[in-house]
Amino acid sequence: MNTPELLQKALNFEFLTQEEGVFLYKEASTAELMFVANELRKKQVPHGKVTWIIDRNVNTTNVCIANCKFCNFFRRPGHDESYITDIETYKVKIEETFRLGGEQLLLQGGHHPDLGLQFYSDLFKQLKELYPNLKLHSLGPPEIAHIAKLEGISHTEVLKSLIASGLDSLPGAGAEILNDRVRRLISKGKCGGQEWLDVMRAAHQLHLTTSATMMFGHIETIEERFEHLVWLRQVQSEKPEDAKGFLAFIPWPFQDDGTLLKKVRGITNQVTGDEYIRMIALSRIMLPNIKNIQASWLTVGKQVAQICLQAGANDFGSIMIEENVVSVAGAPHRFTSKGIQDAIKEVGFEPQLRTQQYEFRDLPEHIEQQVINY
Ligand code: SF4
Repeated sequence: MNTPELLQKALNFEFLTQEEGVFLYKEASTAELMFVANELRKKQVPHGKVTWIIDRNVNTTNVCIANCKFCNFFRRPGHDESYITDIETYKVKIEETFRLGGEQLLLQGGHHPDLGLQFYSDLFKQLKELYPNLKLHSLGPPEIAHIAKLEGISHTEVLKSLIASGLDSLPGAGAEILNDRVRRLISKGKCGGQEWLDVMRAAHQLHLTTSATMMFGHIETIEERFEHLVWLRQVQSEKPEDAKGFLAFIPWPFQDDGTLLKKVRGITNQVTGDEYIRMIALSRIMLPNIKNIQASWLTVGKQVAQICLQAGANDFGSIMIEENVVSVAGAPHRFTSKGIQDAIKEVGFEPQLRTQQYEFRDLPEHIEQQVINY
């Protein structure tokens, strides 16, 4: 095994093994990885534009029984600060989102012990009745697994019912690192790694589009990061030929502020800008069957995310009108629609507004330039 041979293999769009990925992580220079990833990006996304989206994270509830050690968003059932978002609040937030040019809600929440399929089906139906053009990019594999367990039915049955109620796409939330050694230590109450992958398999069989993520830089080994990438790639290669499967991969470093992982175990985010850029490049290299790689400006900041656009990333994600989970763990960055486009232009790319399906969208003419901090 040597670096030039592996980089050539990557340039030929061959699948690198977990060991080969780890070898490149350890041996290849950042410049080499960036060059190869950039070449792959040019072939896979030949329009050369950098896409972005306007959407809003809204939390259905902060009540959760999963107890993830990296999360300081959730509250236990019965806690004074616990809530379930009511319809009036959704209306205000959706109408603000439309005024800011968005058309989608990223709806996520905790594992509420009493909210089952009926609750989410009714919610989705009600939102779609009120706002037929609204897109729902909502929940995630751990929530689907939680609902399936509460109801005693399969992932497929849960997904079918949610799709019929208005679910448009399934975010890749809650993947963290898929290896169960890591999950037992940081997110024991969530579904295991193989169940996460099974939910995605079921979604792809139903032609529901999804995304994939990785939260890294905490207690995982480098081998476990690359195993995670290989597992995602495997699930993508099993999707029906006419399904899109994972539309994108979004890696981000663990945000440590106020989390139990930091307070109790002293584990802090050690991911440098250089390491993040290398992981973006290696994601492009390891995942030749996932077209879009997103740089997480929210967690790494504008400058590092801009360099990622030369390292295989082709998407800048959302302006995130509202975000309440990684923000409370220390992700301080904010963009307006103008700011995100300027950031893309500054490094020589043309910004392109997109939908969740990665289709191009015209920028609405009159949109407010504002970021809402809750
Ligand atoms: S990350 Fe999600 S599942 Fe884990 S404790 Fe927080 S809200 Fe619950």
